[in-house]
Amino acid sequence: MAREYKPDWLGKVPTPAYVVEENRLVHNLEILAGLQERTGCHVLLAQKCFSMYHFYPLISRYLSGATASGLYEARLAYQELPGENHIFSPAYQESDFPEIAEICDHVVFNSIKQLKKFAPLLKEKGKSYGLRINPEYSTQSEDFAMYDPCSPESRLGVKLADFERELTAAGYQEFMYGIDGLHFHTLCEQGSEPLAETLEAVEKGFGKYFKYLKWLNFGGGHHITKTEYNIPLLEKCIRHVRETYGLEVYLEPGEAVALDAGYLASSVLDVGPVADGIYQNVILDTSAACHMPDVLEVPYRPPVEGGGQPDEKKYTYRLGGPTCLSGDNIGVYSFDYQLREGDRILFGDMAIYTMVKTNTFNGMPLPSIVAIKADGSMEIIRSFGYEDFKMRL
Ligand SMILES: *Cc1c(COP(=O)(O)O)cnc(C)c1O
Repeated sequence: MAREYKPDWLGKVPTPAYVVEENRLVHNLEILAGLQERTGCHVLLAQKCFSMYHFYPLISRYLSGATASGLYEARLAYQELPGENHIFSPAYQESDFPEIAEICDHVVFNSIKQLKKFAPLLKEKGKSYGLRINPEYSTQSEDFAMYDPCSPESRLGVKLADFERELTAAGYQEFMYGIDGLHFHTLCEQGSEPLAETLEAVEKGFGKYFKYLKWLNFGGGHHITKTEYNIPLLEKCIRHVRETYGLEVYLEPGEAVALDAGYLASSVLDVGPVADGIYQNVILDTSAACHMPDVLEVPYRPPVEGGGQPDEKKYTYRLGGPTCLSGDNIGVYSFDYQLREGDRILFGDMAIYTMVKTNTFNGMPLPSIVAIKADGSMEIIRSFGYEDFKMRL
């Protein structure tokens, strides 16, 4: 007997597939649009997190624009997402820069050297540009040093001492090679409390220079669309900067835009033998290493629809991918029923940092990309095949 699946598209979708629900995306976008309306800030999509450009026209109806990590993302937004086009990169390629200067409205530099090098072209084009700073104020635990731009070894952002040394050398006649703004990005999946603390540290160090500027960019990492997020405190931070200094405020969340908006749908290929004291292995048609690398990198345990903690429900399995990597394990989950070949397994919160990070290690096929429209109907946006594996090698 065929299983009955919830949501009902699960039985029909080809696997593996990333499935993004328009209604869930709109839920997040409405929260972010409300924030813009109430405070006058600008919210940009950080494309490195979610670049499913099928939804860019929809996103552009709610947000002010997008930000990019380099030329290709900037070009994608230029082509597909009407609105402001921002870019930050730890270092720009000289050969990319003419196009960047053409298609981007805001360019953020990671070093004063690069700022000096590229500022004249941006000035000529009438573009706005700024500098990423390192507030040297960590709000993350040491376990997440990889995601902390304020860690002592960080290569991201200019520190106050370096900023002021250069300022003294450059003189104030034209403030810092004509920058309009400062950008700080120090958070990762955090609330507005660490933002408020960080903002205080930024003001303490750099606040005396705000009078020379037009904007301040708060970066990303704000978990705004999580239920427990303190939005009033975020609004207070934004209003404080706008009212005290007359600066425009930018936020560039990735996660918050598509948080919980998508899934990774997969099928059971094989169920291993029962062994005493060890959970039964199940091989899926999706791989942590290829399709959800953050599960191994961060690491974290993704939610599974209908799946419980080990031994919480009657049947417990270790779910793994079909690659050669012994550690290609997604996690141990329990179910009310015995898993069989062909059963669907649905991983939650898989719109973000997934389809932008896939690889074809072991010749693994790439998951299809599927949209569930507001009326519940399913549209297969893209499917991949052998050529997508071969063309990269
Ligand atoms: C990663 C990143 C973002 C988006 O971060 P989220 O955690 O997805 O909100 C924004 N700006 C910069 C500079 C980033 O590196």
